[in-house]
Amino acid sequence: MSDVRNVIIIGSGPAGYTAALYTARASLNPLVFEGAVTAGGALMNTTEVENFPGFKDGIMGPDLMDGMRAQAERFGAELVPDDIVSADLTGEIKTVTDTSGTVHQARSVIVATGSQHRKLGLPTEDALSGRGVSYCATCDGFFFREQDIAVIGGGDTAMEEATFLSRFARTVTIVHRRDTLRASKAMQERAFADPKIKFVWDSEVAEIHDTDGKLSGLTLRNTKSGESTPLAVTGLFVAIGHDPRVELFKGQLDLDAEGYLQVDAPTTRTNVPGVFAAGDVVDHTYRQAITAAGTGCSAALDAERYLAALA
Ligand code: FAD
Repeated sequence: MSDVRNVIIIGSGPAGYTAALYTARASLNPLVFEGAVTAGGALMNTTEVENFPGFKDGIMGPDLMDGMRAQAERFGAELVPDDIVSADLTGEIKTVTDTSGTVHQARSVIVATGSQHRKLGLPTEDALSGRGVSYCATCDGFFFREQDIAVIGGGDTAMEEATFLSRFARTVTIVHRRDTLRASKAMQERAFADPKIKFVWDSEVAEIHDTDGKLSGLTLRNTKSGESTPLAVTGLFVAIGHDPRVELFKGQLDLDAEGYLQVDAPTTRTNVPGVFAAGDVVDHTYRQAITAAGTGCSAALDAERYLAALA
């Protein structure tokens, strides 16, 4: 069992590294678990990020995350490329266990484990991510000006992504595996009224075509007839939902109706004193690097005040 730390941070995306930077500069000596395979978070899997303030020519996702990591380390954050596999957060001293079975203790914990977008699960999907396949219209829509795009999904997110993308795209085709949408009436009506948006019902993506490392089209399969049809698009936005990484905390931290960690907004306090949460594990609305970094900062300041009150 290790010494009791002031703060342990679980996660290494923009939220985790920003929390690490702030707590390190506040001399709280944070211990950061970055994850065993995905240190740096979701932006490690993308190419150009054009909307993180301060980088007027854009920056590659991994470079942005390397910078955040180095900045946190420069001020003394202790970074560990390992997963936390269990956590007991309920007592005054919180404990978390890494993959080697070592137990780490802290007076406060910041949870910044992010969320995982659901994938279609098709063979070329990962290779074409950032090369025509996207999971975030706000992030990538701008790259698809005057192109033909498909959006997959039938919920509010899919309708929102499609109406947003229609500002840039030549056409947006919403592909949905049923013949009715799950989205709210208002969102549906906005999509139906948009002259650039058309619908392909009862259909799913059977193949994502890769030509020279770029998306070159889709093959759709009708879920009722089994018939295959080509869809000529150069952009594919998958909008079939996200899964916040909350498994470790179930039964200890309150979740909201959609399964994300619940905080006492506008603070980052969870229902357990001394435990704070930031970034996409909390946020099902904005899901941006800058908002994750912003709440990471809030979590660090909340933890700092909590620890000061204990002293
Ligand atoms: P994440 O970045 O998801 O990081 C969470 C981290 O926690 C991961 O490193 C994970 O390994 C770690 N972790 C999880 N569980 C554990 C555990 N048990 N133990 C230890 N570590 C753990 N946003 C923009 O603003 N602009 C863009 O251009 C943009 N492009 C994107 C492109 C892609 C392909 C994707 C997927 C997302 C993009 N986003 C973009 C969204 C942005 O990446 C996220 O909003 C942001 O990364 C969320 O930050 P986070 O810190 O909450 O979580």
